[in-house]
Amino acid sequence: MAHIIELTDALSNKIAAGEVVERPASVVKELVENAIDAKSTVIDVLVEEGGLNKITIIDNGVGIRAEEVSVAFKRHATSKIKNEHDLFRVHTLGFRGEALPSIASVSFLEMTTATGDGAGTKIVVEGGNEVEKHSAQARKGTEIQVSNLFFNTPARLKYLKSLHTELGNITDIMNRLALSHPEISFRFSHNGKSLLKTNGNGDLQQVMASIYGLAVAKKMIPIQAESLDFKLSGYAALPEVNRSNRNYISTIVNGRFIKNYALVRAIQDGYHTLLPIGRFPILVLQIEMDPLIVDVNVHPAKLEVRLSKEAELGQFIANTLKAAFHKEQLIPDATPSKKQKIASEQLAINFDKEEEKADTPKPLTPPTYTYQPSQSTAPKAPTELPTSDALPNEPPLFINEDLVEYDTSQTTEEIEPKERMPKMYPVGQVHATYIVAQNETGMYLIDQHAAQERIKYEFYREKIGEVDRELQQLLVPIVLDFSTDEFIKLRDQKAKLEEVGVFLENFGQNSFIIREHPTWLPKGEEESTLRDILDEALTKPQVSIHKLREDAAIMMSCKKSIKANHYLTQADMEQLLDTLRDASDPFTCPHGRPVIISYSTYELEKMFKRIM
Ligand code: ADP
Ligand code: MG
Repeated sequence: MAHIIELTDALSNKIAAGEVVERPASVVKELVENAIDAKSTVIDVLVEEGGLNKITIIDNGVGIRAEEVSVAFKRHATSKIKNEHDLFRVHTLGFRGEALPSIASVSFLEMTTATGDGAGTKIVVEGGNEVEKHSAQARKGTEIQVSNLFFNTPARLKYLKSLHTELGNITDIMNRLALSHPEISFRFSHNGKSLLKTNGNGDLQQVMASIYGLAVAKKMIPIQAESLDFKLSGYAALPEVNRSNRNYISTIVNGRFIKNYALVRAIQDGYHTLLPIGRFPILVLQIEMDPLIVDVNVHPAKLEVRLSKEAELGQFIANTLKAAFHKEQLIPDATPSKKQKIASEQLAINFDKEEEKADTPKPLTPPTYTYQPSQSTAPKAPTELPTSDALPNEPPLFINEDLVEYDTSQTTEEIEPKERMPKMYPVGQVHATYIVAQNETGMYLIDQHAAQERIKYEFYREKIGEVDRELQQLLVPIVLDFSTDEFIKLRDQKAKLEEVGVFLENFGQNSFIIREHPTWLPKGEEESTLRDILDEALTKPQVSIHKLREDAAIMMSCKKSIKANHYLTQADMEQLLDTLRDASDPFTCPHGRPVIISYSTYELEKMFKRIM
């Protein structure tokens, strides 16, 4: 082994930078947090080329005294704590004294700072080396410019994503900082274009409006509650305004934006049964508590904290939200249709749950044989059985008021003999949920919901490949508001979205307008379908066209598929089974659950001991 030595300051700063300065967004976060700690009331953030070119932060805070400027760039140099006692009572965002030396070690940094008494100071640090320091005229506050980020850490530079991804991350950080501090005016711009502006008047709802759009901000209810240990305040979106991911939940503890899974769970619990499964609220929750019960020293970027009364806090949050929504429902309702929609969505979920339960094997069920999608195990179709009235050339399949036209002009038998699914004849329906069918080979149970999902999925998957042929002009265009980073993400995916039938047109700042859409979108659910596709593109901006189409087809197939507990006529059943036979993969629903199970005649005979 080599000899043990103490690393130079320069090297240990670079090592710390690996943790603290992951990407341009971390630089913005650390420097803005410093500006907040310096009691600034106005903070300007100017970013060029996703932060890869230059990041400038200008604040009007307390500034740094001339004789302390160099010290601020030393490792573990801080003005925020003095001893162990302070460490457990941190009331500032920073305290580890790592950000300035770390950032300065991997970039070219220029700082001009003044306390308002006497002249200011300018310092230039390149890759951790102080190359210039002198007094300079400056107004009270601090201006920091960071350029050539990661110039001396090529691996980190290579690991960075596209300009747009980095800008998206910075925007997200800026949004969270603005939400955490409505009392500070933030102005954030990229390549000279303003992306966020808050006025610093302390009104959280106004900050939310500038981030999430006015339409969303209007559908918020205020949250206020206080217990012995905690004080909660903020805004929670009405359940009808929801999103497909958790990114819209912001939890802020003592002015610090944090990620805490238990608190997110508690919030979801507060919305329990009000939101459909897989949907998440928009909510900003400010939580104040004694710093003694928060350990902020567990994560280098302090994104995670440890709360010693986490369970109590979670309970308090969930109860507060429940109470807030409960009160809300007592107010005479001006939009009954919306409430009805929520109720019916819950109904749908309950059905889904029932179905899931039904999928799990029950001890009393006799041994079953599940169809394997392979030629050898699937029984051959009988040739000489009485033909049913329902022929493949029937009018469009009519199920649950939902007209879907299938191309039945050509039967599979004529085109290609892909006889994977035998012809089956319905005998009846069990619990208005399963179709019992038979043929000479045996008896079949078909899950009607899963079968229709499969059929619709294949229908939409085909349609979605030819979006521009069947467009329908909307009488009332749909206007969609987004936050800046969402807007950027969607704008960059416009071409891809058009391939799945979503035609976005810019409409003022951060809004799109949709004037036409494909005619085959699920009837009555056009807008929600478009929104769901956009949500998908927002959560997975890197998703390929192929995958986006696939996901959109699955999503549309779930909409308005016949649920369990729906009575079908003999003709409905016959048609469903015949259409299912034409599916290219009829054995599972798009989620992979079985569509059909069978009992062979042989198995039946064995069960009844007709043969041994
Ligand atoms: P920390 O924030 O953990 O104390 P930093 O390395 O981020 O460590 O900053 C070191 C010190 O430099 C801070 O404690 C603070 O005194 C001073 N400082 C940094 N940025 C500013 C600023 N924008 N305005 C005033 N003082 C600042
Ligand atoms: Mg700091």
